[in-house]
Amino acid sequence: MSNHTHIESALIHGGISGDERTGAVNVPIYQTSTYQQQGLGINKGYEYSRTGNPTREALESLISELENGTAGFAFASGMAAITAVLSLFRSGDRIIISSNVYGGTFRVLDKIFLNFGIKYSIEDTTDLKSLDKKIGSDVKAIFIESPANPLMSITDIKGVSEITRKHGIYTIVDNTFMTPYLQRPLDLGADIVVHSATKYLGGHSDLIAGLVVVNSKELADRIHFIQNATGGILQPFDSFLLIRGIKTLAVRMDRHVENAKAVVEFLRSNDAVEKVFYPGSPDFHGYEINKKQAKNGGAMLSFELKENYDIKKFFSSLELIVLAESLGGVESLICHPASMTHASIPYEIRQKVGITEGLIRLSVGIENIRDITSDLQNAIYLSKK
Ligand SMILES: *Cc1c(COP(=O)(O)O)cnc(C)c1O
Repeated sequence: MSNHTHIESALIHGGISGDERTGAVNVPIYQTSTYQQQGLGINKGYEYSRTGNPTREALESLISELENGTAGFAFASGMAAITAVLSLFRSGDRIIISSNVYGGTFRVLDKIFLNFGIKYSIEDTTDLKSLDKKIGSDVKAIFIESPANPLMSITDIKGVSEITRKHGIYTIVDNTFMTPYLQRPLDLGADIVVHSATKYLGGHSDLIAGLVVVNSKELADRIHFIQNATGGILQPFDSFLLIRGIKTLAVRMDRHVENAKAVVEFLRSNDAVEKVFYPGSPDFHGYEINKKQAKNGGAMLSFELKENYDIKKFFSSLELIVLAESLGGVESLICHPASMTHASIPYEIRQKVGITEGLIRLSVGIENIRDITSDLQNAIYLSKK
């Protein structure tokens, strides 16, 4: 946080804010593809909007400040951001990923990057001792998420970063679930942070966007080269929308977390509920590590209903909470990992890693808490077999 001591203020005033020419409080949407040049080789710092656009730059400098990085980059989606980061590697390199990274991250590695000779291994990144031994000479990065979907497993970001530093390789953290308001991976020693800004940063389920922040000039130059060369940039209007969303992140997140804690309490005291997975519960595996590296447990949780509850009936009985993929919107969003977000994982593997048929993932929104819990209560009641 270079210019603003407190993140609540940086969210609103960080990066490049306002418009010098007119005094407009908000950065204008520079809806332009190109820029007039004053003469051959003379311009005002912009030549073409794939390479640079002032609205996108305002967003990029903002996320860089929020994550305490060297530079930020905005992409058309979280997957475009992740693809740009993976494009740092070359044939023969290997990347270690956690066993529960976002499905799209696994898919792009398995179905696209593998074709170009970039290999991956899936490891339990929560176990630092065994992780250290898995780093062969071809491993060039460890890619983690904490908490990770859908069981909210926690990886020690500082611990992983110490291991990668020792081996001279990169730590990449997908910080989508926490946002820089709750967790700052670069401060913990990571090299690269990626975001699906579609989720909490945008916050209103109305845009698809991705961000990358790096911790060195060298990585900044390389990611900028990749961004310009491959072209998966975020458009000016979407950059504006994302800046707008980020301004309210602190108040939204505080309410998300407050509601999530209340939902956890409700679920834990409900006879229909078998298990609750929430990193903010003191008896949760990983609670202590999460507490060290994040401000709190966030607002993502999952739970399992007991076998005498009909899961299909449960989902169809919800009236307020929206059955949908995605997370981090102001509205509560619920999904069934086994048939939705994690359906591409074979049944046996799903069972092994704990993604049971009864598992439900909830992104707790900022509605009135009593409306959320009574919707859950009603759906539980109606789904009893
Ligand atoms: C949604 C998501 C992504 C992918 O982002 P898109 O914006 O949908 O492309 C990546 N990582 C995590 C953790 C996500 O939740």
